[in-house]
Amino acid sequence: MNSHLDTLAGDFLGEIIEPDAPAYESARRTVLTSGSPAYVLRPANVADVQAAVRFATQAALPLSVRGGGHSFAGFGTNEGGVVIELGGLAEVRLLDRERNIVRIGGGATWGQVAAHLAPLGLAISSGDTKSVGVGGLTLSGGIGWKVRRYGLALDSVIAAEVVVADGGLVRASADENPDLFWAIRGGGGNFGIVVAFDFVAHRTTDVFSGAISFPAVEAPRVLRGWAEYLRDAPDELTSAAELANPFAGGPDAPVVIRVVFDGDDPERAATALAPIRALGTVIADDVALTPYPEVLADGATAPLGIRLVTRSAFVDPESVQEVLDTLVETASSAGGPFVGVRSLGGAVARVPADATAYAHRAAELLVITTLAGPRRLSRPLVAHWTRPGRDSARSWWAPTGTSCRRPPTRMSPRSIPRPRCAGWRRSNAATTRTTCSPATTTSGPTRRRPANPGAPKRSHEPSRPPHRGCHHPQAGVASDTDIGIISGGEPVFS
Ligand SMILES: Cc1cc2nc3c(=O)[nH]c(=O)nc-3n(C[C@H](O)[C@H](O)[C@H](O)COP(=O)(O)OP(=O)(O)OC[C@H]3O[C@@H](n4cnc5c(N)ncnc54)[C@H](O)[C@@H]3O)c2cc1C
Repeated sequence: MNSHLDTLAGDFLGEIIEPDAPAYESARRTVLTSGSPAYVLRPANVADVQAAVRFATQAALPLSVRGGGHSFAGFGTNEGGVVIELGGLAEVRLLDRERNIVRIGGGATWGQVAAHLAPLGLAISSGDTKSVGVGGLTLSGGIGWKVRRYGLALDSVIAAEVVVADGGLVRASADENPDLFWAIRGGGGNFGIVVAFDFVAHRTTDVFSGAISFPAVEAPRVLRGWAEYLRDAPDELTSAAELANPFAGGPDAPVVIRVVFDGDDPERAATALAPIRALGTVIADDVALTPYPEVLADGATAPLGIRLVTRSAFVDPESVQEVLDTLVETASSAGGPFVGVRSLGGAVARVPADATAYAHRAAELLVITTLAGPRRLSRPLVAHWTRPGRDSARSWWAPTGTSCRRPPTRMSPRSIPRPRCAGWRRSNAATTRTTCSPATTTSGPTRRRPANPGAPKRSHEPSRPPHRGCHHPQAGVASDTDIGIISGGEPVFS
């Protein structure tokens, strides 16, 4: 082993972090998980990545690759192996101004990309969070606020530089290694380490972005009407619905419809949003013209001692109504999960199913559910949602008798679903503030422009509005986590 390490150290310009190094404690962690790798390697350039791959092979150690570190499954770290952390490869460079081709390092984050491209009037359809990595998100899909207009993040990729298993560097595009090019667009991080992506960026203006909220009791009508409208809504409109936000009252939380209209024409935006505003009794509406980079949320981690468990599933068109009914029922029960539903369709569905390795072109919705609970449980809080039927709400919980301990951080008893554990429930009896910051949606960033004149601001929310800072356990979005497909009543979450 030492001779392999000596060989690596001879040429490696980046950092080699071993367990006794001060940097190890943070280097072994990802955003959501922790591990105990033998080596965390931080390459400074492509040659370092190649050397790191050869080192792992020669030392016969398991290898994990870390881009932005947001994998819910914890793929960005391991036990006893090698982690290659790509944060040093984060360059964003405009290659071709005429065709808006942008080269992005495999370790960049979407916040970095948005910040670099905004002054050029450009953007790439990506995810909704700044700290998520370009690598992990793009290789698996990439569903964000421009998805219905420009498709998945991977739909804008035209080439990639890939370090493959023997340490060689190859280019993948429609003309060079086309099979590899097909595979990395939807196949995840299984085919090599992408050290650079070439994307075609699109021109962007400011966009109309914000949240329109309705009372929880109107959830069935609002959710059904929302999904129906999104089937034929203009591609510029991408939207997500949220129910039972644990930080805004759980089952009593308003139904929040988040919208981004990808354009700056107030009349067109107002026309596109009118059917959403007509879905029910609007109790808050903060849609405003916003620079696109500010639409992306800052990443957030769970409050200390709180574990978030997230599942996601794509929903085929024929199952939409049944799934929505089940979600409404689940969200309205005490102890149900936080439910997020994202609209798909649009440009995603127009790409032929076999054009890339991404397997969910036909899905109409993406459902994301999250439960929060004390970290020290003998088993996860979330059981499986075994089938989309009316009895499914019962299966959200671990069996009675689950061992619960007092969590180190107290949260509002209304803010997290409770397991069936009286002791734990009592330990949370005091209402305290969480470490998450409250709503930013109503105050908005300073560079926001006034709201759409066609949409008067209303703001008499019955409870704290949902906030962007903490609602982003939003996981598994076209990711490496447990993804099931809801299709014709088949089992969903795995
Ligand atoms: C807070 C949060 C918000 C999210 N929001 C969205 C969203 O809006 N839309 C959406 O689609 N998804 C979203 N996701 C899911 C996210 O896209 C996936 O978890 C994704 O895998 C994270 O990528 P990463 O590079 O940050 O993670 P990592 O943990 O670093 O990597 C995840 C996987 O990708 C591989 N990988 C990463 N970079 C490379 C590379 N350069 N070459 C080869 N393999 C690589 C890793 O080996 C690993 O298997 C979100 C996740 C979180 C936690």
